[in-house]
Amino acid sequence: MIFYSTNTSSTPATLKKATLEGLAPDGGLYVPSEIPSFSPEELELLQDAPFTDIAFAIAKKYTGGEIPHERLSSLIDECFNFKTPLVELDDTTFVEELFQGPTLAFKDYGARFLARMTGYFAEEDDRLITILVATSGDTGSAVAYGFQGIPNTRVVLLYPSGKVSRLQEQQLTTAGGNVTALEVNGDFDDCQRLVKQAFMDAGLRSKLTLTSANSINISRLIPQSFYYAWASVRLSSRFDGRKPVFCVPSGNYGNLTAGVLARKMGFPISHFIAASNANDSVTRYLEEGRYEPRPTVRTLSTAMDVGNPSNFARLLYMFRNDFRSMGREISGYSVSDPETIETIREVYDRFGYIMDPHTAVGFRALETWRQETPDHADSPSVVLSTAHPAKFLESIREALGRDISVPDRLQTVLDKQKISVRINADYHDLSDFLSKLDS
Ligand SMILES: *Cc1c(COP(=O)(O)O)cnc(C)c1O
Repeated sequence: MIFYSTNTSSTPATLKKATLEGLAPDGGLYVPSEIPSFSPEELELLQDAPFTDIAFAIAKKYTGGEIPHERLSSLIDECFNFKTPLVELDDTTFVEELFQGPTLAFKDYGARFLARMTGYFAEEDDRLITILVATSGDTGSAVAYGFQGIPNTRVVLLYPSGKVSRLQEQQLTTAGGNVTALEVNGDFDDCQRLVKQAFMDAGLRSKLTLTSANSINISRLIPQSFYYAWASVRLSSRFDGRKPVFCVPSGNYGNLTAGVLARKMGFPISHFIAASNANDSVTRYLEEGRYEPRPTVRTLSTAMDVGNPSNFARLLYMFRNDFRSMGREISGYSVSDPETIETIREVYDRFGYIMDPHTAVGFRALETWRQETPDHADSPSVVLSTAHPAKFLESIREALGRDISVPDRLQTVLDKQKISVRINADYHDLSDFLSKLDS
């Protein structure tokens, strides 16, 4: 499979090149030259297949001959060694829990696959690859635990001291081994600036092979299509061929883009609902056909606080810049903070189920869509649950008036000893640290 950049089709890349580069040299995002499709017969065979079989069937089409099938299959088993429950709230409403991985958020799917692809390609060249990431929290923790112990890779994370939650800091600083957390005396913008400087430092780059692991990497996108594919074949067979609707709590729109990819591959999905918080640039685009990003505003669903989503370029590309055709497949709704809290409470009262604020944004958007399109009121529907509620105890307390228990794997991380290296928001400090690493 060959990948093109969204900016021009002049820089085709293999999966290896696209994975190790992240962003294309022209600043565009990599997209598959042609979206592989599954025939009805192939889909039939996958109906009762376990998650990892579906993941393998899809991954095979994107890796082409670049990774031997046996190896790919074992990498996939390693990636998805946790469950993806499909919880039934009522006859037609399901929650797909994507938070059963090590950091209790859906970013584990993308990060764990990317880590193993990177490790595989690095090993092929007998190289050690250094992944350099600036993080304000969620991406960094998934990357830290995704790459933990992966041969031929090492991770250096930069995070702003005192500006991430205690839980996030624990997740960033306890992976250990090949993962180092640099605690920067500065803010997130400083961290991003330092990382950019390192990527432009030719001297450093002649010594270290640097790569980033941000959410635009094609090897983070592909694995996110797996859980759409898996849930859609199961539900459409259970509902006699009726295709489910997917509702996606969105920030950078990588998750939704992966859903669109799954649908284009032929998986039975009828429609998407893009749920946003007050950061509604894409919601407004879907209504008005004009894309006018605005500064980011802070909400309770913090991981969706993105004013100018980086995956929007890819989404546009997949719909050939045609907002009407995008609008036929995707409906967008924006949900406020008070509505989010109200929804956590209502869902608990109706179903006895506790949702985190991101998932609640999704559930609320689904309800609104169902009211506006009565024809679909009883379509089978899946809300993607992107995080475990125990990561957002304050919102849960506000909604339900009580605390919930923290799962063991989260408690284990909370109990670990934090290990970080303090640096100033000064490029000399970072380059000094990086140049002392062995190459
Ligand atoms: C990252 C994240 C999102 C947003 O996903 P995108 O792919 O950026 O749209 C939603 N919920 C949680 C919990 C996240 O961590």
